[in-house]
Amino acid sequence: MSSHDVIIVGAGPAGSIAALMLARARHRVALLDRAAFPRAKVCGNCINPAAWDIWQRLGLKNSFEALPHQELSGFTLQCEDRTIYRQAFRSPQHGPRAIARDVFDDWLRHEAEKAGAEFFPETTVTGIDPKGIVQTSRGDFSGKLIFGADGRNSIVARQSGLMPAPRRCHRVAWQVSIPAPSELDDQIHMHLFEEGYFGYCRHSATEAVISMVLDSRRTQDPLHLVRRYFPHFAEQNWLRMNPITRAPARTGSGRVWLLGDAARVVEPFTGEGIYFALATGLLAAEAAQKGLARNNPASALGTYSRSHWLLYARRAWVNTLVRWSLTTPSRTVRLLRKMEHLPSFVSFLSHRVHAT
Ligand SMILES: Cc1cc2nc3c(=O)[nH]c(=O)nc-3n(C[C@H](O)[C@H](O)[C@H](O)COP(=O)(O)OP(=O)(O)OC[C@H]3O[C@@H](n4cnc5c(N)ncnc54)[C@H](O)[C@@H]3O)c2cc1C
Repeated sequence: MSSHDVIIVGAGPAGSIAALMLARARHRVALLDRAAFPRAKVCGNCINPAAWDIWQRLGLKNSFEALPHQELSGFTLQCEDRTIYRQAFRSPQHGPRAIARDVFDDWLRHEAEKAGAEFFPETTVTGIDPKGIVQTSRGDFSGKLIFGADGRNSIVARQSGLMPAPRRCHRVAWQVSIPAPSELDDQIHMHLFEEGYFGYCRHSATEAVISMVLDSRRTQDPLHLVRRYFPHFAEQNWLRMNPITRAPARTGSGRVWLLGDAARVVEPFTGEGIYFALATGLLAAEAAQKGLARNNPASALGTYSRSHWLLYARRAWVNTLVRWSLTTPSRTVRLLRKMEHLPSFVSFLSHRVHAT
């Protein structure tokens, strides 16, 4: 059996940044992922400007800046056929940036490996023993701590009894990468309609991404909506994901802690999920270092849970408001039409989301 200080399940942003921090502090870290990297991920590919502070703090700013990307200069919100809001970002160089997820996640995973974490790709976790054993398709791993950073359908959360009872979520996400049309500018375009919403932007000089969230109760055939809005791309290979909404899980129990989407899923619309994943990865790594130094890692769960709670209490309220509104897209369409002549409220919310 392979033995480490911390076993991290999932090499998305939450898992990789936690692995990087812990490996830099000279802890033995195993980072497991069922996928071979680089791997695709359903996402709008926009990284919130709050992440700049993280790159700066970890000495990763230059390396992040060197990734193929698109600086995003602003955001437009369209409601059915009318543009109801436009915002130019104050400082595009340090504003939101779009990067293909296979590129971004592979970069961060590689940085974690460079720091000393051991990466195990194509290693699917099949079971968790709360005493510190992780069962996988490659055999068992043992750790003083287990971090579940395995996304919204987290097996770690389910097997550890941390996941709340599932509620049916009727919303499904769809995503496709396409060659960027030459007329596409450098803005984030969000578009709301009765059955859901979609967003699109460039994520490099040559490629763009479209992501959609559709209410399956309003449409039996999502391709019908794809054909309506993107007739040229209907035959492309669209990736699919659900649930979009899920009640938060408990942040941990004993040696098993949850990070990123595994603990709490935010509404994709505001483009903050990657930031929350990174921030929770950092908080968990900081707390774990204290617990490992005391030779009682589980004792630091309280520290992690408090800082996790505070992070979302301070920052996620706009997202929660947006999610409440978007669970019934037709209501949001009506609301936004009324607010068309009152852009200051949308502007206030948008500035909160893009604040560093
Ligand atoms: C439609 C849509 C658009 C979005 N757009 C944006 C956006 O523009 N900006 C933004 O910031 N956020 C966006 N998000 C949210 C963002 O994608 C997530 O919040 C973010 O990826 C969470 O990171 P994570 O590290 O927690 O999990 P993930 O990135 O989901 O990584 C989890 C990892 O765990 C691995 N894994 C899962 N199960 C197992 C297992 N059993 N064994 C081993 N490994 C396993 C997976 O292979 C994966 O690599 C969007 C989400 C959706 C659905």
